[in-house]
Amino acid sequence: MKSITVKYWQTVSLLFLLFLLTVYIFFIAILSKEVDILKAIPPAIAYELPQQQLSEANTHVANFLFLEDLAKSPDRKLVVKIVKENEHWLIVPLSHIILSIFLSVFYPALALLIFAFIAYFLISNYQRVKLRNMLDSMLNTANEIAETFGQKQSPKKQQSILVNLNYALENIARYATQYKIDTEQSAFCDKLTQLTNRHTFLEHIEEQLIIDDDNQKSGLLFIDLDGFKKVNDSFGHSFGDEILIQVAERLKSIVRSNKLGFSSKTTNLEKNLARLGGDEFTIFLHHIDGAEFAVNIAQYVLTELERDFILGNKTIKISASIGIALYPESADKPNALVQLADVAMYRAKKDGRGIYKIYSPEMGSQLRRYHYLLEEMRLAITSNNFYLTFQPIIHVDGCIISYFEALVRWQHPIEGAVTPIEFIPIAEESNQILPLGDWILSEACRQMFAWYNAGMKKTKISVNVSVIQLKHRPLYQWVMGTLSNTGLPPSSLMLEITESCFLDISEEIILELEKLRQEGVCIAIDDFGTGFSSLAILATLPVDILKIDKMFIDEATGSSKYRKILKSIIDMSHQLDLKVVAEGIEDLTQLELLKSLNVKYIQGFLISPPESSINVGTKVLDQGINHLAHNGAGVWQPTPSNTISQVV
Ligand code: C2E
Ligand code: MG
Ligand code: MG
Repeated sequence: MKSITVKYWQTVSLLFLLFLLTVYIFFIAILSKEVDILKAIPPAIAYELPQQQLSEANTHVANFLFLEDLAKSPDRKLVVKIVKENEHWLIVPLSHIILSIFLSVFYPALALLIFAFIAYFLISNYQRVKLRNMLDSMLNTANEIAETFGQKQSPKKQQSILVNLNYALENIARYATQYKIDTEQSAFCDKLTQLTNRHTFLEHIEEQLIIDDDNQKSGLLFIDLDGFKKVNDSFGHSFGDEILIQVAERLKSIVRSNKLGFSSKTTNLEKNLARLGGDEFTIFLHHIDGAEFAVNIAQYVLTELERDFILGNKTIKISASIGIALYPESADKPNALVQLADVAMYRAKKDGRGIYKIYSPEMGSQLRRYHYLLEEMRLAITSNNFYLTFQPIIHVDGCIISYFEALVRWQHPIEGAVTPIEFIPIAEESNQILPLGDWILSEACRQMFAWYNAGMKKTKISVNVSVIQLKHRPLYQWVMGTLSNTGLPPSSLMLEITESCFLDISEEIILELEKLRQEGVCIAIDDFGTGFSSLAILATLPVDILKIDKMFIDEATGSSKYRKILKSIIDMSHQLDLKVVAEGIEDLTQLELLKSLNVKYIQGFLISPPESSINVGTKVLDQGINHLAHNGAGVWQPTPSNTISQVV
């Protein structure tokens, strides 16, 4: 800037000097010409002076200035020597010559000046118009730019175009700054909740862990909302979005009130808290004393998220499951920390939801097995690697078979037998229970129809139906369709639905069950005593049979309290015309107890483990042929290893 100013002044001075020089040369030229004219025709004003009266010294100066004829008169006036006659000089005052020069150039100069003024006026006017047009177009461009930021400019009518342009440019500068902040934010944060996104969160943890020394501990909470899909399905996605925003707000205030924050100065984002996607959130706990601190925060988060969410006139409850991974014990890389906390969260979900779990290596191997079995199950379903076993449920009087429970088995080519306790939950979670369950129902009905035709007319087949099937299959149509495909009468079929499912199913499903009952299909509540349902619901549910869970019976043999509860369940069931089946009877003490409590139907290893269809056929059809021929019901003859023979 400084050098530009210096150059400017240098140029101006040079031009000014040039101008002076030009004026001077011009003046000299005219003056010399004028003197020549005067020499030819001396003017009236000329007068004579003797040589010696003229100052010779001044002629040097005149020489120097190219005006050889210039001299000073005795009265010290500048005069011009015109002609020398007889030692006398004819001289003319310089002022007179200048005046005549002036008069001779005045009119042309005036004309030139007027012309210059007019030219100046026209040029400047032209330039003003040109500038105005330029400013107009700049203002338009500025307005267009402002509009690309989504802002409508309203010009200030009273103000000049320059003021408007200035105003527009200031606005653009403001919008551009805001736009920069916004784009930075959207690159770093999740649009819905304005929390840090996964990428930024992981980068941030990486930065924090790099500067830590080995002794410093940190933790990571992986928070997943329970039943959020249900909220979305029931109330719509925009409602779900609102809930996520409220969850984010609660988590933010937890982070701030516990001073867990790490706020970025540029974007003002809370970098220790992120939304990873969907209903998954995570909090990074930097520099903690140990697992206890992480547990405290997890508990705090659980309590905060259990508080009612209010949206308009709706109040809903949500819980969360939390997985905790610790640095450096669990993992030392951000991605691994998140993954392991996710594994622990998954365990928290499995173990009942609404709780937290700290990651342990054993969880990781379980997750791997889960995915392995899921893949293998998909193959096994298509390649028919499943088969059914049948466990008899008998009447205590005479060991008469009331029905067989169909229990699915999976013979894996490498793993060997995989138990239903392990694979049914995986099948349910992945919805693989749908194709598998279709096969089970149809295979069980087909098998029973074969036995039915062979004489087992009074025996039913019972099939376990999971809550996923109840929700995804058109129940009535599905069951009746399978029955008609296999030829089995509806009265030979029983469906076992676990107690906990009844807490989770809709009014429509209950109506479907009722319709099936009217067709003759029996409905049983399975594993009763584990689902915490109130006894009162027994009166309202469309069920015929109550199967008391093994665990409850095991407890009742040792505790008088449990015995009393068991007795009241049995009495009440009988009053409601429900048949009671005791599951998992393994010894005589249990059998005696149940008989004393008036339970008529029992199932358990004491009578028989689940058997293959071939074994059932041999036992019932071949050995009990007389009985079948007699009354259409099979008898389960206990083998010598079973002690039932001693009691019946
Ligand atoms: P569940 O429906 O309560 O079936 C009874 C379970 O108890 C069977 O286990 C049976 O073998 C076992 N059991 C019977 N008597 C005794 C006994 O005296 N002692 C002991 N310890 N256990 C006994 P399983 O076959 O392993 O099946 C476990 C669970 O898996 C079943 O419980 C049922 O919930 C589910 N499951 C089995 N098969 C199917 C199926 O085809 N479909 C569906 N959805 N679930 C099934
Ligand atoms: Mg069952
Ligand atoms: Mg059961």
